[in-house]
Amino acid sequence: MAVDVSGVVREYQDSRRPLVIATVCSHSSLQIFHGARREGLGTLGISVGGDVKFYDAFPLARPDGFLTLGSYAELLDLADDLIAQGVVLVPHGSFVEYLGPENYMNLRIPTFGNRRILEWERDRERQRRWLSEAGVDIPKRFREPGEIDRPVMVKFYGAKGGKGYFLCKNYEEFTEMMEANVFRGGQYQIQEYILGTRYYIHFFRSPVNEGGYTLSQGSLELLGMDRRDEANIDEMYKLGAQEMLRRYGIYPTFVVTGNVPVVIRESLLPEAMRIGELVAEKGIDLFGGIIGPFCIESIVTDELRFRVFEVSTRIVAGTNIYPRGSPYSDYVEEDMSTGRRIAREIITAKKKRMLDHVLT
Ligand code: AMP
Repeated sequence: MAVDVSGVVREYQDSRRPLVIATVCSHSSLQIFHGARREGLGTLGISVGGDVKFYDAFPLARPDGFLTLGSYAELLDLADDLIAQGVVLVPHGSFVEYLGPENYMNLRIPTFGNRRILEWERDRERQRRWLSEAGVDIPKRFREPGEIDRPVMVKFYGAKGGKGYFLCKNYEEFTEMMEANVFRGGQYQIQEYILGTRYYIHFFRSPVNEGGYTLSQGSLELLGMDRRDEANIDEMYKLGAQEMLRRYGIYPTFVVTGNVPVVIRESLLPEAMRIGELVAEKGIDLFGGIIGPFCIESIVTDELRFRVFEVSTRIVAGTNIYPRGSPYSDYVEEDMSTGRRIAREIITAKKKRMLDHVLT
């Protein structure tokens, strides 16, 4: 359960003081600050350790001020002070990771987005339920290693950034890989390995917007798409077959090192929008809905079928490619990054007296 911030949100709604967008200095912070500045909001960078010199290299994305902490947990004690400044926290993937999920749920400072999603995003079983009940096609799951009858990906729960995942094709390979894997003994999920092309689709669900691609509540926008650069799997083909590599102790990892822009065949766009809609609508049923950015992580097969292997429910780092908008957001509004869209949503919600629909 998240702490109740409705009283503070009411204060923000009634106050004339401009709001200040704050986030942790990492992940997509340049884009979040840049977007907030372009919408005329104040900005505050939260840093542990104070290594913020790199912002000097990017003056248009440098926050107005910094809050340097000894640990992220100190944010909880500073709540009154930050509320007095009208701070809204914009969480990104690293924000929750650094702060810790429990501290995040207990923060008395209003955050942009629906905090209730966290339990649906972090728990792999619940996320599967959300996606399958939504009606999207997800990779088959194998309950027992003995059932493996095709290429699979074994995902360990503690594996960070895909390091510690492994691929195998049958039970024998599974046991061999378990022996070699550092996460041996930990909880894992065995998932069908989908062969195809990956697309990470950046959506934005607005509970306050009217018109456009409408949902039962609010609307859906497609703001961009990327593909992730992943080490070392992306380059492994240059060294030869996986079986051979294993003999040399080289195992694939899926650690994200960067992102590249992509567009999808236009004939696939209706299905991409339909998937975004299904996931967003199920979210409305299950936990009151996604607020703001989310990302559908998908693979399109050579039969042109989308398979969704994950959903991220905050701004993803792949949006950093598009500080001035993407080939999709350009058809919604020119010059619109996801960071700027977040600031715009907060401003619009305040104008419509609907701030409580976007801050939790
Ligand atoms: P994840 O931690 O689920 O985002 O997965 C990390 C990376 O593993 C993804 O970016 C994909 O490259 C790859 N991946 C994950 N699930 C699958 C799957 N079911 N089939 C093929 N590749 C996958």
